[in-house]
This record gives sequence, structure tokens and C-alpha cells, in this order.
Amino acid sequence: MGYFAQFQIFVLYKMIDIKHLDFSYGNCDVLHDVSAQVRAGDFLAIIGPNGSGKSTLIKCIAGILNVKSGAILIDGKPSCNYPINQLAQTVAYIPQTEKGDLQSLVFDTVLAGRKPYIRWKPSEDDYSKVADVLHQLGIEHLSMRYVNELSGGQQQTVMIARALAQQTKILLLDEPTANLDLRHQLEIMNLLKILSFNGLTIVMSLHDINLAIRYASHVLMLKDGGVLAYESVDNVTRTHIENLYNIKVEMITNGVTLYCVPLGVDA
Ligand code: ADP
Ligand code: MG
Repeated sequence: MGYFAQFQIFVLYKMIDIKHLDFSYGNCDVLHDVSAQVRAGDFLAIIGPNGSGKSTLIKCIAGILNVKSGAILIDGKPSCNYPINQLAQTVAYIPQTEKGDLQSLVFDTVLAGRKPYIRWKPSEDDYSKVADVLHQLGIEHLSMRYVNELSGGQQQTVMIARALAQQTKILLLDEPTANLDLRHQLEIMNLLKILSFNGLTIVMSLHDINLAIRYASHVLMLKDGGVLAYESVDNVTRTHIENLYNIKVEMITNGVTLYCVPLGVDA
């Protein structure tokens, strides 16, 4: 098979297939009929107002919450059919507030990402994988530092390192740039973009529409637990954003990137 044909199969492969998903917490319905297909190497941003169900959807994909009806296929198989370790070898999840064990060394924190592979003690392979990931992310110099001594951006990079040590095909992140300054936001988004170019399938929730437009390949707009739109990033329009947040916005471009400028709330 030629390179191009292989590449096409890689690009077209549905890594995550969400089919008519409903989810409720007890009697409180949160997600209604959510469908979306995420292809291998896609970089998907889930955007939407507070309480629209972004974190809930990510937890459903991560297998932390059980779907009420509908299905989520992960790498071709229903998520509920995965043994725990096999799911952990396929999907890594970084919750919004996750900072790891702040009392741990960075090296040990990243080594914890190897847990799905370790039987009773880490192997040489596990240690060398951790070293590879620290090198890949340029944080070897932090390996003997305690996580609580690091900046917010460094802590988030350590969480991504731990997820990469897990060697999964899918990385889920809930608001990975929350509480980061502008420079660290860009560093984290650049890092994620490179990882997605290298074939990792990334799904993240984001509040910053401009970061989503600039970095993601696709945008899923969630409103009141339903899908308002699911678009390639080039097809996101002013109307989408206005309808999503009930605000007035202006879209401007510097010739390279499109920017969304909020103008005011809808009457
Ligand atoms: P988002 O991440 O878009 O802000 P969430 O997925 O956190 O939204 O929340 C969606 C809805 O589900 C909200 O109405 C929220 O109050 C509710 N919710 C979230 N977590 C729980 C929970 N553990 N128990 C009950 N309701 C919850
Ligand atoms: Mg949330």
C-alpha cells in the first residue's frame, strides 16, 4: 500500500465515535443526543457556556461516567467493553483541577502514567519511557523537583508528560489553559498542536474561543447539553458564536488568523 493510501486511512479513521449520547446526573438531564466523530489526529475543542456539559462529555469519553443511552466507540470498540487497564492504555484524561500529587517529584509523577503497564514494579522500559517523555517536552531539568515548587504552566506540562507516558492514542483535557498566563497558554497549545500533528487524537474543553480557532482543527459547540454545531475550524462563523453565547461579536482577521471580538450581550 502506498504512503498516500496509508495516510488517508490514518486520517479518515474514527478514533472516537459518539452516537446519540444522553447523560443525566440522577434526574438532572445534562447531555441530549450528542453525536460526533473524532478522527485520528484531530484536535477538537469543545466550547460552550458554563454548565453546557463540556466536562460531563469529556468524562463520558474518558469512561469515568457511564452513558445513559447511546454509545461511545473508542478506537472502534464500545467504551463500556474495555477492561480498565486497556482503556487506560487507549485514553488519557487530564481533569481541570489535576495537578498531580504536589508532594511528589516530577519524575515519580510522570512514572505514575505508566501504571496501566506496570505489574508489580516499574521495568527498565517504564523508566526509559519516562525519560523519553521528559526529554520530548523539554522538562528533564525539572525531573527531581517537587511538583508544588513549579509554576502553573510547568505543572500543566508535567500533567501532559504523565499522560504521554501512558502511551495512549487519545488525550482528553478539561480546560488545559485555565489559570495560565498568556505565555503559558500559548506554550501549552503549541505543545498540544505538535502532539496532534504527530498523530495523537486530542479532545479538550476550552473557554477561550480565540485559542480554539487558532489551534484546534475542529470545534464542537455545546449549548444546554446539545450540539449547536460541529465544524471544521475554518467553518466557524460569527453567527455560530453569537448563538452559542447569546452575545454580539465581530470577527476580524490579521490576514493569518481569525479573531472573535465580543461586542456586547444580546438584548
Ligand atoms: P461545563 O463543563 O460545560 O461547565 P458541566 O459538564 O460541568 O458543564 O456541567 C453540566 C451540568 O451538569 C451543569 O448543570 C452542572 O450543574 C451539572 N453537574 C455537573 N456535575 C454534576 C454532578 N456531579 N452532579 C450533579 N450535577 C452535575
Ligand atoms: Mg467544565
